[in-house]
Amino acid sequence: MNHFQYQGNDLYCEQVAVRKIAEQVGTPFYLYSHATLSHHLATFTAAFASVPHLVCYSIKSNSNLAVLKTFVNGGAGFDIVSGGELFRAQQVGCDPRKIVYSGVGKTEQEIAAALEADILMFNVESTQELETINRVAGQLGKKAGIAIRVNPDVDPQTHPYISTGMKKAKFGINIARALEDYRHAAQLPHLEVIGVDCHIGSQLTKLSPFVDAIAKVRELVESLQQEGFAIRYLDLGGGLGITYKDEEPPSPADYAQAIIAATRGLNLTLIFEPGRVLTGNAGILVTKVLYVKHGEAKNFVIVDAAMNDLTRPTLYGSYQGIEAVERSTTGTMLADVVGPICESGDFLAQDREVPDFGQGDLVAVTSAGAYGFTMSSNYNSRCRVPEIMVKGDQILVVRERESFADLIRGEQIPAGL
Ligand SMILES: *Cc1c(COP(=O)(O)O)cnc(C)c1O
Repeated sequence: MNHFQYQGNDLYCEQVAVRKIAEQVGTPFYLYSHATLSHHLATFTAAFASVPHLVCYSIKSNSNLAVLKTFVNGGAGFDIVSGGELFRAQQVGCDPRKIVYSGVGKTEQEIAAALEADILMFNVESTQELETINRVAGQLGKKAGIAIRVNPDVDPQTHPYISTGMKKAKFGINIARALEDYRHAAQLPHLEVIGVDCHIGSQLTKLSPFVDAIAKVRELVESLQQEGFAIRYLDLGGGLGITYKDEEPPSPADYAQAIIAATRGLNLTLIFEPGRVLTGNAGILVTKVLYVKHGEAKNFVIVDAAMNDLTRPTLYGSYQGIEAVERSTTGTMLADVVGPICESGDFLAQDREVPDFGQGDLVAVTSAGAYGFTMSSNYNSRCRVPEIMVKGDQILVVRERESFADLIRGEQIPAGL
């Protein structure tokens, strides 16, 4: 469910016509619905109401402070993957006891900052990282809560770039070796072993990989409990998929039902790190048609947003919906929707039946709330676009459009060059 709906021929975000926002802030821009974000978090949380749980929103999917604040207000904690994300979490007043820290390459500085902040736990991804966290914690006179991220070797049946739980992946520690690492961790004086973690991939549209992973992780938890480890948390990561086109992912309720059944009797607090499922369909990218070019082999709709603004189609070949902000005709054409960047890979849609767009028309690129702005860059010296949040009838600019001055911030022409 989301709050991007047509009223007559005009696309609205909650109570505001998207066209009106474009008139106010120009194009392109990202647009988020506050009600959709809140609703998605509430739905996810409610699905697990019957068991002890903690929802740690994965900041990397959309890290805008207003989005983070919306989730803190809804009771969420955060899954962070860098010192920068810790900083963001602190900016919005997140309870540090609701923060978990994932990622294969945490630096000593990042570990120290997270220890100083008193976060709940580190999801540790290698034996050397255990040693490093132990050493840094010792220097600071702290005890670090840790889980080991285990790699259960299941195929999440998603895109290879976002599969993370198979043997050949860089993530986690092979589950067969994990017990050894847990025993080792127990010997390290500045660590407190409190959890087990796994995250098998992103945009999963079936329940079976989650259930298969839990079956394997469950064996490990039980072995640990038998050895006397005081495991309190089972972190099951994120990864629940969304509908971009015609995928039919499990609902949060179905997902919860399967997970609650698979973890019954373990007596642990479940941690979840949802990203895309909360933000993906809570945002769109709005862009304007600059030119329509009827080429010999193909038609091109050239818009003012590009692969630097939304990179998923280029990076993963992923599908993003293309809709007219104002439905003026019912005609369609077969076209590529492309940006101004000097790369053939710069497309938002390829060989797509799209509305019969004309110059100046506004285009909504749908399902762009996750891994949209956060993956954007300044390639081709393009200013990053503003982020707008609509809340009821309010238009809130939650990140300004960058200026040319922003583009060169920090650059220097050395004297004598
Ligand atoms: C990216 C990531 C997530 C969020 O994944 P989604 O598919 O967006 O839910 C959660 N946990 C970890 C460790 C991640 O790397």
